[in-house]
Amino acid sequence: MSSDLKRSFAHAVVQRLRDAGFHALWAGGCVRDQVLGRTPKDYDVATTATPDQVIELFGRRRTVAVGASFGVVMVLGPSKADGQVEVATFRTDGAYSDGRRPDSVQFCSPEEDARRRDFTINGMFYDPVLDQVIDYVGGHDDLKRRIVRAIGNAHDRFTEDKLRMLRAVRFAATFRFALDPDTAKAVQTLRRQLDQVSVERIMQELRRMLAHETRAHALELLYETELMPEILPELFDDEGREIDARPWLVAAFGALTSDDYEPAMALLLQPLHDPTQSDSKRRLSKVQAVCRRLKMSNDEIEAICWILDTAATVHGISSRPLHVIKPLLANPNQHSLLAMLHAVASARGESLDNVQFCRGFLRQHSPAELNPEPLVNGQDVQKMGVPPGPSIRQLLSTIRNEQLDGQLSNRPEALQRLTELVSQLPQT
Ligand code: ATP
Ligand code: MG
Repeated sequence: MSSDLKRSFAHAVVQRLRDAGFHALWAGGCVRDQVLGRTPKDYDVATTATPDQVIELFGRRRTVAVGASFGVVMVLGPSKADGQVEVATFRTDGAYSDGRRPDSVQFCSPEEDARRRDFTINGMFYDPVLDQVIDYVGGHDDLKRRIVRAIGNAHDRFTEDKLRMLRAVRFAATFRFALDPDTAKAVQTLRRQLDQVSVERIMQELRRMLAHETRAHALELLYETELMPEILPELFDDEGREIDARPWLVAAFGALTSDDYEPAMALLLQPLHDPTQSDSKRRLSKVQAVCRRLKMSNDEIEAICWILDTAATVHGISSRPLHVIKPLLANPNQHSLLAMLHAVASARGESLDNVQFCRGFLRQHSPAELNPEPLVNGQDVQKMGVPPGPSIRQLLSTIRNEQLDGQLSNRPEALQRLTELVSQLPQT
């Protein structure tokens, strides 16, 4: 298995450094994951070797100086399955004048390196040769007690790097841990300073929280720490009250089963969708504005807007024509839409009939049945003497709907029907 390969490569990297006379240990998240009995996603090694020495030892072709000024070198495994290991020199960070990144780093002892890390559970080392955890910060106890606690003074640590506030919530949520009271209090005190973190980094954390099955816990923590109004002020009124009832939102998050973050984001932004407007652009204008402010990708914005604007169509879906049902269920975001609607209906104690109808329809129809090749195209219409203009699109759309409704099943039928429709066009 690839996880075993990664692990043995990370072991080999430590061994190689030791053989060359350096001290080397696994560090950070991989130690935490291993103690928790989880398979680490990737392995980080901390060593007394400097970046130059690491590069010399493993060779230029197998190393990438990803952050040599911070003491970090990536060592590539012999094959892709072996993964890559980030090898960093034991270091302390200098001053944080931008509230995000240290101005400089100094090489130091393992203990000092542990103390610059964010949370006790992330501050342990592991000696893979002796199978021994080395814990200078009480991380092992906090893992057992299931607590996320800043290393040292929480207020100081969050002042240095504001992103840590969101990381605290993410680790607490995804591991279902509690936030240590002092750590939680420091987040609440400093929450306003989250505006010093770029929206890209905020979104990176938010995506991970919302994509994870523990998203309801994340949501509760974001409210409790009052980080939520800093991230999404649009969801609060002038008096600072949330515009969507929190308990039902938490319940809906709890009922959401999806590996994507879009359904959760759509749920959050739902109160900004204005169904009273007649055109979709207006209905979605507030949603769009938030998505743009958060610098989401075009694909993400399209998905979230489509989910919110299509949700109403699923209401009473079984009595809608096939030319409405099929394109809806052929849309690449239909799983996200159904996941969201399932969660909404569950949280409100409403019937799941509409969602179940869609899921049944999807089981019974292949992608080619949902979105068949069109029977005619624009050239066919033009050849019948229709001048370029909106009537071409209208004619094609009529033919398409009749195809999806099962009234036209082959090209000759479609061409005949097209001729008929063209002859009914007003003469210009
Ligand atoms: P995961 O990758 O599963 O989210 P991780 O603990 O590996 O968790 P990374 O962001 O990969 O997290 O960082 C690796 C280690 O670097 C952390 O375990 C922590 O010790 C340290 N670290 C990362 N970010 C910070 C930070 N902002 N401040 C202090 N230490 C940090
Ligand atoms: Mg990591």
